[in-house]
Amino acid sequence: MTAIDPQHVSSTVVQVTNISKTFGIGGRALSILTDISFGVHQGEFVGIEGPSGSGKSTLLNIITGIDYPTTGEILVADHPIHNMSQDDLAAWRGLNVGIIFQFFQMLPALNLLQNVILPMDLAHRYSRAERKGRAEHLLERVGIADQMHKLPNMVSGGEQQRAAIARALANDPPLIVADEPTGNLDISTANQVFELFNDLVDQGKTMIMVTHNKELASRVPRVIEIAGGEIISESNHLNDDNRT
Ligand code: ADP
Ligand code: MG
Repeated sequence: MTAIDPQHVSSTVVQVTNISKTFGIGGRALSILTDISFGVHQGEFVGIEGPSGSGKSTLLNIITGIDYPTTGEILVADHPIHNMSQDDLAAWRGLNVGIIFQFFQMLPALNLLQNVILPMDLAHRYSRAERKGRAEHLLERVGIADQMHKLPNMVSGGEQQRAAIARALANDPPLIVADEPTGNLDISTANQVFELFNDLVDQGKTMIMVTHNKELASRVPRVIEIAGGEIISESNHLNDDNRT
C-alpha cells in the first residue's frame, strides 16, 4: 500500500514541468536550473547523473519540496508541491517521500531502531503499537536487524545507510529519492546498497537516484543526464541486462 489517496492514483508519480531555479548572489541572478521537464512513472528507477555543481541536489530538493522552483510546476503523487506552504510540505513529505542522503543523517543519540521509528512517530500513519514491530521488520529487510540497538557511530557506513533506507521506508512512501547515496561507501558496500534499491523497485517503489558516478548511473534503467543546470540527454537502457 502507498500513501497516495486512492482517488488520486495515477501512473505518473513525479511530473516536473519547465522548472527553473535562480539564486540571487551579491545582487546578481545566478541561473542554476533551466527549463527542466520530465515525468517519472510509478515503479520506475530513474538516475539523475551529472558532474558536481550541475544542479542535481537543487533539482532533488525541488522534487521533495525542500526548496521551491523559481518558475515551473512540480506534481508529486498529484500534489502541486510548488504551491504548498512549508508546513503542509513537511506533513506531505513525511508520508509521501523517503529521502536517503550521502552522509546518512542518522540522529546520533538514537539507536538505529529509534531512528527508524521516529518518522512514524511524526507522521502518525501507523498506530503507536505497530511502530516498533514495523521498524524491526524494515531493519530485517535491509539486513541489519542484529545491529538495531546500536548507536549510528557504533556501526559501519554501509550499515548506517541500510538503516537510513529502512528509515526512508518507515511510512511506506510511494517515492524514494537518494542524493549520492553511495558517495561515502566503498565499492562492495555501494553495490549492496544499489541492490537494495533494485529490490525496492522490484517491490513497486518509485526511485530517483542522483549520482555523479557514470558507472553507477549506467546500471540504472533510465538516466537523465544534466550539465550546467540543463538536461543534456536521456537514456533508457531497460533492455540491457546490466543491473547486477
Ligand atoms: P550538484 O548536486 O549537482 O553538485 P547543486 O545542486 O548542489 O549541484 O549546486 C548547483 C549549483 O548551484 C552550484 O554552483 C552551487 O554552488 C549552486 N547553489 C546551490 N545551492 C545554492 C544556494 N542556496 N545559493 C546559491 N547557490 C547555490
Ligand atoms: Mg549534490
